[in-house]
Amino acid sequence: MSPDPRGLEDALVEIERRHLVRARRTIEAFARSEGATEVIVEGRRLINFCGNDYLGLARHPRVSAALRNGAAAWGVGSGASHLVTGHGVEHARLEEELAAFVGRERALLFSTGYMANLAAITTLVGRGDRVVLDRLSHASLIDAARLSGAHLRRFAHRDAGAARRLLAAERDDVSDAGASGRGRLIASDGVFSMDGDVAPVGELASLAAKSRAWLVIDDAHGLGVLGPSGRGTLEYLGGLSAEAVPVLVGTLGKAFGTFGAFVAGSRALIEVLVQRARSYIYTTALPQALAAATRVALRVSQEESWRRERVLALAERFRAAARERGIALSPSETPIQPILIGSPEGALRASRGLFEAGFWVAAIRPPTVPQGTARLRISFSAEHSDSQVDALAESLSRSLRGLDRSACDAEAGAR
Ligand code: PMP
Repeated sequence: MSPDPRGLEDALVEIERRHLVRARRTIEAFARSEGATEVIVEGRRLINFCGNDYLGLARHPRVSAALRNGAAAWGVGSGASHLVTGHGVEHARLEEELAAFVGRERALLFSTGYMANLAAITTLVGRGDRVVLDRLSHASLIDAARLSGAHLRRFAHRDAGAARRLLAAERDDVSDAGASGRGRLIASDGVFSMDGDVAPVGELASLAAKSRAWLVIDDAHGLGVLGPSGRGTLEYLGGLSAEAVPVLVGTLGKAFGTFGAFVAGSRALIEVLVQRARSYIYTTALPQALAAATRVALRVSQEESWRRERVLALAERFRAAARERGIALSPSETPIQPILIGSPEGALRASRGLFEAGFWVAAIRPPTVPQGTARLRISFSAEHSDSQVDALAESLSRSLRGLDRSACDAEAGAR
């Protein structure tokens, strides 16, 4: 883009022309003293059906109190990176508790999931190596693979056979000689963030073992939610071991309701990350108060297991209500329930229709999702009520019927 101000204006005009403008809506207040699902936006009361606070812990009284107490004890900022003077006892304990929770030798805290993925991938592979990713993997896995300098190929969604073929084709399209001795890495979301479906982690693990590749699973949307004790996609799929999935990434800003992320794995893996990962070394440590709040959130997620059952039951309730109304669903067994619309314009119209009816459901458009698959991304929280879910299904049905009618009108007008 040219530094001339016209270049920026032209870019904005083009984004608008394609109905791809991203705009922030400002939460002015919460509508109730507890719970985060009812918000005030533009002076209106809305039910939020597009967040990632799956267990409803973001405003949980015990978690909030832990943050306040943590700030009273430790202050707000950590004041330095972990390797200088920013590392504290709350970080150390949280890392131990996270490692125990996911059954790994160690865990390492990061400020965000984005940075955790950058660290894991750029530390394990580099130029001349090969990364294969599910094509619907989160942007941070894609960016991490690009930044690593490794040769990146993307395989068809949830298709371990396609991943195997890409790894096997390695010799043909890595131009440097002697490619067979190079590093390989397979990565995927555990639960896909915009689709809600689950990766075939067992098959990817067998492939990784056979092809001597690293396997990185980013379980941002599975941890805390899936599996009998909330240990995520690996538990949901029958209990995949630490050997099967040597690098596990989790985030803390979703089911655990706080902020931050971690990589879990062997002692040696974590130690190499501490020594080498630039997104760990060159950044300020997460505040200790947040680590203290997350420790409580982790405990609450275990003690109040009804939250997990509740959010999954709500997703199922929504699916039944949608089916009754003839709404097409995607194959998702998780709290993420996308409704595919197709065009960015249609997705925006459906989202606006819901907004008018008092529901906040974001329109997700390219490049977040592939061209032609713009959608509404509906997600549930344990804090939603049955009647809110039923009302959403009814309004959604009305909003989608409105879209169909205007599509017919447009077609008739074009004839
Ligand atoms: N991985 C996945 C699958 C995600 O959905 C997200 C967040 N949307 C991230 C990583 C990034 O996590 P964070 O928001 O903590 O940066």
